[in-house]
Amino acid sequence: MKTLMRIVAVLALLLVFTAVGFAQSDPLKVVTTTTQAADLARVLAGDLIELTPLMGAGVDPHLYKPTEADIVAMNETDIIVTSGLHLEGQFGEVLESLAESNVVIVTLAEEVQMQGFVLKLDMGNDVVVDDPHFWFDPRNFQLATTTFADALSATDPTHAETYQANATDYLTKLDLLFTWAQEALAQIPTEQRVLVTSHDAFGYYADAFGLEVRSVQGISTADEAGVGDIQAVVDFIVERNVPVLFVESSVPPQTINAVQQGVLAKGGKVDLGVRVLYSDAMGEVDAFGGNYLGMIAENTLTILQSFGLPVPPLPDELGIVFPAELLEEN
Ligand SMILES: [Zn+2]
Repeated sequence: MKTLMRIVAVLALLLVFTAVGFAQSDPLKVVTTTTQAADLARVLAGDLIELTPLMGAGVDPHLYKPTEADIVAMNETDIIVTSGLHLEGQFGEVLESLAESNVVIVTLAEEVQMQGFVLKLDMGNDVVVDDPHFWFDPRNFQLATTTFADALSATDPTHAETYQANATDYLTKLDLLFTWAQEALAQIPTEQRVLVTSHDAFGYYADAFGLEVRSVQGISTADEAGVGDIQAVVDFIVERNVPVLFVESSVPPQTINAVQQGVLAKGGKVDLGVRVLYSDAMGEVDAFGGNYLGMIAENTLTILQSFGLPVPPLPDELGIVFPAELLEEN
């Protein structure tokens, strides 16, 4: 009997250890599409999750087609985090096929849409579409933060407190970032408050910070810029005396170069920004612009420097400082 008790006790202990071992060695699996979604996963969950980011630095999400390995990862994960509003143009079928499965699909734009903050873009011929680049307004990224933190908490309630605490800290940082950028960009003279880029990624950024945007290519990089589009932007630049054009990180520079040539041909002069703006993808993870806070800060810095304006220091609480080599570009 004693032996049997001992065996039962050992078995019970083994079960406990197995259970503990299971809990520790089996973190929540999270797959993210865009670099912004991957960054938010790191901010909210850190090492608590097993993260599989699908798109890397500089990848264009409008055009990115999921690979075989991506599809396997999406089928084996607990949560898939997408940006939404049709940004991931090639993911429709895969996501649809997963709709019936147990995988939780989080759309970061969901609350932005629910609260009516989605901007519309007139594509001509009575076609109006949702602008998918919502994250460029830090206030929208706050809504995305809450959406993501709630989904993590619901799927993995054991760590809900951590996810929510990380979200609260991050919401404060996004507030500080918004206020800093707003004050910094308010320095641009009224008549020059125009951001000319190759595709329509900056509508929300412009809206948040009181700028006007003009793009050559329209909302998706899948639509090619025509000669007429380029000429219209050239005329606009000459007429408004716009001093600077910006090339984007995830879009080839040819269109913007063609615009610059066009302005020169009309006897005008326009510079290119001191560096490329991050548009639909951020930088490498270890770069200053490899996370959302750094990306917005660096884009704002690039715009200020390109307009020849002073750069106010970032608030200490943000926990990021401009690297010297970025400040020297001025
Ligand atoms: Zn885009």
